[in-house]
Amino acid sequence: MDFRLSSDQESFVAEVRQFLDKELTPEAVEEVASEERMGPNAKAMLLKMAERGWLSLHWPKDYYGGGRTAMERFLLTDELAYRGAPGAANSNTGGRIVAPTLIMFGTREQCDRFLPPIARGEIDFALGYTEPNAGSDLASLEMRAELDGDQYTVTGTKFFNTACHYAEYHWLAVRTDPKTPKHKGISLMMVDLKSPGIEIKPIWTMAGDRTNAVHYDHVRVPKNNLLGEPGQGFYYMAKALEFERMFVSGDLRRYYEQLLIELKKERAAGQDRLSDPRIRQTLAELAIELHIVRLFTYRVAWSLTVGQSAGREASIVKLFKSELAQRMARAGAQALGLYGQLEPDSPRTPMNGRAERYYLQSVSASITGGSSEVQRNVIAQRGLGLPR
Ligand SMILES: Cc1cc2nc3c(=O)[nH]c(=O)nc-3n(C[C@H](O)[C@H](O)[C@H](O)COP(=O)(O)OP(=O)(O)OC[C@H]3O[C@@H](n4cnc5c(N)ncnc54)[C@H](O)[C@@H]3O)c2cc1C
Repeated sequence: MDFRLSSDQESFVAEVRQFLDKELTPEAVEEVASEERMGPNAKAMLLKMAERGWLSLHWPKDYYGGGRTAMERFLLTDELAYRGAPGAANSNTGGRIVAPTLIMFGTREQCDRFLPPIARGEIDFALGYTEPNAGSDLASLEMRAELDGDQYTVTGTKFFNTACHYAEYHWLAVRTDPKTPKHKGISLMMVDLKSPGIEIKPIWTMAGDRTNAVHYDHVRVPKNNLLGEPGQGFYYMAKALEFERMFVSGDLRRYYEQLLIELKKERAAGQDRLSDPRIRQTLAELAIELHIVRLFTYRVAWSLTVGQSAGREASIVKLFKSELAQRMARAGAQALGLYGQLEPDSPRTPMNGRAERYYLQSVSASITGGSSEVQRNVIAQRGLGLPR
């Protein structure tokens, strides 16, 4: 099988690399890796990408987009993830996930209102699905939106809503009809996070990263901010999840390469861990798995490019990638010995503390965006046709 990129795609990747060489600053990379996940330098970088039309690269041209394919969006995201740049995860949620869903189900007026500022990098979205009593079973969500004239009144609590402390809008799943079967009474809406009655409080993960609890107390949301038809939100969320699940592996490749560089540096300085057969075997195993995950991610990107649903394949990638990240983090921590456990600001830490950070951060990879158990259920039921 020929996996080569077309010459257009090759030159696009070259353009992205050139841009990143010139524009990506260490400060922006640091902000993306920081506990807050965002900062002024990362935002400035997103604005530069917006100037090139990269936040809206794969939207149709008549919807303010660049008209490029999902494959080009994938190639861009993979490069951004490889370099630790903003726009790959936890930012440009508006461009990557919200806009394609809005184009499918929103009104023309909503597209004209929301798409241009997303494309210009002026507004971004945070995903608002999970609640204290609804995570894997999202259909159980309870946040209530009641229609009152031209506005909804929204009350309830969301949990683990990651980007709410820097995004401008909430892509919010609410219950508009409590009487119908649970997945049929859900709607999706776009909410200005500055609306009166919204309170955002940090939740810190074990890695020290910030996500949020978001409380709504009688928040007024214009009726025309509801996406498509009321009661169809569960279906729209499933589509949005497909856009979310265009995974890349650039971040894993980067970590692996940094680990190898560090181990070679140590070897040159007289600390030869690379001769240890257990470490060598683990590194070889990881190199194979990195290759496999890359092929999986290409498969999903290709499916989306040709308009096929990537349900089962997307679950396979999500599962394999998140658990590979954990294997890689464990391997890094073991290979670097006790020094690998030192925190970023410790003077003797290798890789600027990245091994310690990655070890802790990788734990949530198999929870966020749908847990490993849920992915295995999807593969078993939808992929293999096994009973529920
Ligand atoms: C760092 C981080 C960032 C996040 N960011 C966001 C965000 O921005 N927006 C957002 O909306 N959400 C976000 N989430 C929430 C995330 O999507 C949920 O945590 C996840 O879907 C699991 O839901 P839960 O935490 O309620 O666990 P539960 O659903 O209560 O699951 C608990 C355990 O039971 C298992 N389980 C549940 N159901 C089944 C089943 N049917 N079969 C087998 N096992 C099952 C799960 O695998 C898990 O091990 C984030 C989570 C984390 C940790």
